[in-house]
Amino acid sequence: MPHPKFPNLTVLDHPLIQHKLSILRDKHTTTRDFKQLVNEIAMFMAYEVTKDLPLEAVELDTPLGMVEGIAQLIPSARVGHIGIYREHDTLQPVDYYFKIPEGRDARDFFVLDPMLATGGSAVDAVSALKHAGAQRIRFLCLVAAPEGTRRMLEAHPDVPIFTAALDRELNGQGYILPGLGDAGDRLFGTR
Ligand code: URA
Repeated sequence: MPHPKFPNLTVLDHPLIQHKLSILRDKHTTTRDFKQLVNEIAMFMAYEVTKDLPLEAVELDTPLGMVEGIAQLIPSARVGHIGIYREHDTLQPVDYYFKIPEGRDARDFFVLDPMLATGGSAVDAVSALKHAGAQRIRFLCLVAAPEGTRRMLEAHPDVPIFTAALDRELNGQGYILPGLGDAGDRLFGTR
């Protein structure tokens, strides 16, 4: 069911996804548990998002963590990589890597990013995919901010977004509130 405020957004409110998301939000959750929960949520998201797909190979693309959960559920999926980081001061996306499998026009692409915050990287990644020939693209995230969702709606209204939660807002540093903190740091234990 699309969100009443954002026709491009579906909040996946399955009780198991919401339960695991609330544990993710707990600042006391360890890196080990955080990583496992991200995988588990991604598996449930993949299950929900693929329920209307015919049986065929599915294209995956991910920068962080979620790919493991989805690859467990869809082992035949091909995985591409789009490397974009967010410049800390300007919050602008910086591209550093792009590699996706051939046969783009015939594939279903799932772009995975745990956090849809300002939407800069998401808009950039989807633009790059389209430029490379991708036609059917879905965007999956664990947590979306209204700002990023709106920006995606403006830039890519044809790309549906699936999320486990639409959170309140961004703070001045571009972090989602209440959010998960820095998902990369928490996944890889870099802080
Ligand atoms: N990236 C993160 O890891 N967390 C946010 O809240 C926003 C972007």
